[in-house]
Amino acid sequence: MNKSIVSIVKYEEPLESLRKAIQLSNGFEQLPSKAKVFIKPNIVYWNRHCDIPKWGVITTSRVIEDVIILLKERGIDDITIGEGIVSEDPKDTETAMDAFEKLGYNSLRDKYGIKVINTFERPFEKIELTEGLTAKMNADMLHSDFLIDIPVLKTHAQCVVSLGIKNLKGLINIASRKKFHSADPIKNLHYNVAQLANKAPPCLAIIDGIYTLERGPAIDGKAHRGNILVASTDIFSADVVGANLLDIDPSVVPHLVQAAKDRNRPLDLSDIEIVGEKIVDLASPHEWDYIYSNNNTLPLPYQKAGISGIKYHKYDETMCTYCSGLNGILLTAIKQAWKGEPYDDVEVLTGKVMKPTPGMNKTILVGQCIYNANKDDPNIKEMIAIKGCPPSVEEVQSALKQADIKVPSYIFKNIDKAPLLFMGRYKDNPEFEESFYQVN
Ligand code: SF4
Repeated sequence: MNKSIVSIVKYEEPLESLRKAIQLSNGFEQLPSKAKVFIKPNIVYWNRHCDIPKWGVITTSRVIEDVIILLKERGIDDITIGEGIVSEDPKDTETAMDAFEKLGYNSLRDKYGIKVINTFERPFEKIELTEGLTAKMNADMLHSDFLIDIPVLKTHAQCVVSLGIKNLKGLINIASRKKFHSADPIKNLHYNVAQLANKAPPCLAIIDGIYTLERGPAIDGKAHRGNILVASTDIFSADVVGANLLDIDPSVVPHLVQAAKDRNRPLDLSDIEIVGEKIVDLASPHEWDYIYSNNNTLPLPYQKAGISGIKYHKYDETMCTYCSGLNGILLTAIKQAWKGEPYDDVEVLTGKVMKPTPGMNKTILVGQCIYNANKDDPNIKEMIAIKGCPPSVEEVQSALKQADIKVPSYIFKNIDKAPLLFMGRYKDNPEFEESFYQVN
């Protein structure tokens, strides 16, 4: 049996650590000499109004620059970095511009003569990922000769892990992203995510574990300094090894289970040859799930704080990324509004499939999807619909008012700067270096 090679290397120094990871994995073996190369980092979130914790959330600019140097050494000139950052407004080009500037991508462009693209300003092509599943995907990547996929070594609240395969979701358009969070119980988010690499050109997956993330994928997760690099020309094998390094059994990652089935591969490591470091020496436990209590109707910390008179059901996989951001804002607002008096039997429904509980006084429906699913439900006494896809923060604010949840005004006034709350966790900790996200 031909085993897939995956290298694991400790990150010790710029360039040489990555060179070793790529050499050990024969990562450039399938790279044609005059290849058109597409680099896909992971910039899952960006905020141009304030600093955000990037550790474990965003691919380090250090690894991106090292990849470019190693490609240049091989005489590769046609290099593109492309990303489609999640943003509420598809016409918002400023957020991507700001990210590319502050992460040093524009400096990389000037220094090495590469291209940097916001995929939302480039053509998408409709492709059939598998029978019955189409998506509109970035044409630059599809027409490149070689893909270098550089996710972060991180967990994901819905997908359990977000590694090489999942990182490619950032290359499909907004409508496809929403569609991926399907209400179909079989062809669901996990099934769809498992198909993302099906039409990609030959690929080298490099998992950037200089920083890792618990309860990812975004800035509210908990980052750790991991100093790990993983490389493989087999994206599935890289992900299986990545999950193991997060101490997560791939058999509990639904999209990896599906990807294994589709590829007729085992989920253990029996058909993978690991070179370099051993998993057992570098793996560390990473929590991925958010724990809810009362039959999944209240986040555990809310129950511990004594919050009552409200059912806020645990998010499910049908809630897409665009409503997820608002979900976080709603939860924070409800916690900050709590003054010790029970709320008025309020229920909050999100995603596409939740159903109202009989006997509640007020039902907040977050987003057009859940409104469409429940607008005629007789179990709803007073409906508070936050329509929109995604809804606006203003609509969220007035819905909470209607539900008699009195949120302190500072919550919404400073919403653009909310990420600063999470920066505090890393303050004065020398392990968390901003310089990994800068280019000199
Ligand atoms: S309403 Fe929310 S969950 Fe539904 S597609 Fe729109 S943004 Fe996504």
